[in-house]
Amino acid sequence: MPTDNIVIAGGGQAGFQVAASLRQEGFAGRITIVGDEPGVPYQRPPLSKAYLLGKVGAHALRFRPPEYFEEHCIDRLHDRVAMIDRDARIVQLASGSSLPYDHLVIATGARNRVPALPGVELDGVFGLRTLADADALSPRIAHIRHAVVLGAGFIGLEFAAVAAARGASVHVLELGTRPMARALSENMSALFTVAHRSWGVTLDLSCGLQRILGQDGKVTGVQTSDGRHLPADLLVYGIGVLPNDELAQGAGLQVRDGICVDAQLLTSDPNISAIGDVASFSSPYAERPMRLESVQNAIDQAKCVAARLLGRPAAYEALPWFWTDQGELKLQIAGISEGHDETVLLGSADTRQLSVLCFRAGRLIAVESANRPIDHMSARKILARAPRLTPAQAAEPGFELKAYEAATRPA
Ligand SMILES: Cc1cc2nc3c(=O)[nH]c(=O)nc-3n(C[C@H](O)[C@H](O)[C@H](O)COP(=O)(O)OP(=O)(O)OC[C@H]3O[C@@H](n4cnc5c(N)ncnc54)[C@H](O)[C@@H]3O)c2cc1C
Repeated sequence: MPTDNIVIAGGGQAGFQVAASLRQEGFAGRITIVGDEPGVPYQRPPLSKAYLLGKVGAHALRFRPPEYFEEHCIDRLHDRVAMIDRDARIVQLASGSSLPYDHLVIATGARNRVPALPGVELDGVFGLRTLADADALSPRIAHIRHAVVLGAGFIGLEFAAVAAARGASVHVLELGTRPMARALSENMSALFTVAHRSWGVTLDLSCGLQRILGQDGKVTGVQTSDGRHLPADLLVYGIGVLPNDELAQGAGLQVRDGICVDAQLLTSDPNISAIGDVASFSSPYAERPMRLESVQNAIDQAKCVAARLLGRPAAYEALPWFWTDQGELKLQIAGISEGHDETVLLGSADTRQLSVLCFRAGRLIAVESANRPIDHMSARKILARAPRLTPAQAAEPGFELKAYEAATRPA
């Protein structure tokens, strides 16, 4: 059966990219993006960085202007996909209408995990996921005196760096023993710990929140898990996300912390793919199925699905990479460092130009580079070709990833 009518649930990074790639590669059928956020699809990374700092406006976040969608015959519906009828191949929308599909791409992303704490409903408590969140938060930053950040993950620390740069006193509370521990080596966590403290951020590790305190409906402070009271006129939480996989679950698709997909990103229904933050997939770069919350993953998975729908099926095997900007630090990560048992350092934490090469059982699995973009670009090439670099080689005086990459480049 030909695929003439593609419906995409979710108009974020992955949903937009699959539509754009389909058109770019010559798909002539119907494409409809159903997205529950208003406006044209936009990128999220600047929301916790340049946009909050006032360095870029909302227009700069849009992937394409509205005319692009008209010119490329990509229909956009501001609606929510409420239900999938797999037998009839129809999606029911929250507005009450329905849409038939030949192929459905679920790109519904993830949503913030909201802390289950007394006071979370107070004015001044924010998550940061959408443009609407950033627009609500942004005008407050100039006026806050005391910001509390719950969670020292990427988004919490990006916000902390922005708020500190804008003059607020910032207190970060993190239950774990080091920042960004889920994704980073100890050496890199240590570099960011020192950097945040040097920017005036208080980083309270092994400490959580008991309650958020307020007066007249507004946040005034917090009570920490060890009983201290801290003043706060703003609280931002960044304690992880939950995949928006209920749609798939309701349709009887296989779901396990995200929608389970096969090597080609197909769900357990051959007429439905899932991509981006919501997809749980296996990767040659990881030991177990995972979800990745990154721009690279959303874009590359979208391209992989578009190619399959155009008759060029291939397994999804892209190398994962990610970045975060905090203060003057740009951290770029290539590969997945989980389970590493040995590291080799290039550069120095003192100069804040450091790369951490992460090895597992003697094999290079990831490279984290702070303010060393050349290392990052070289690492991406090296990791993509099953590296034979040993820890001993990397530890030799004068070793450089760029030179190693050039010397081992296939002819
Ligand atoms: C503040 C912030 C900063 C980030 N910074 C970085 C960074 O520096 N580097 C990096 O690599 N990544 C970063 N990310 C992560 C990156 O933005 C995400 O991985 C990426 O947006 C995932 O794309 P997606 O399309 O899967 O999900 P999303 O972009 O979240 O899009 C999903 C869309 O689907 C909509 N939706 C959900 N359910 C339905 C439904 N039933 N019907 C219709 N629509 C629905 C959602 O509202 C949303 O609009 C950041 C994310 C955030 C929030």
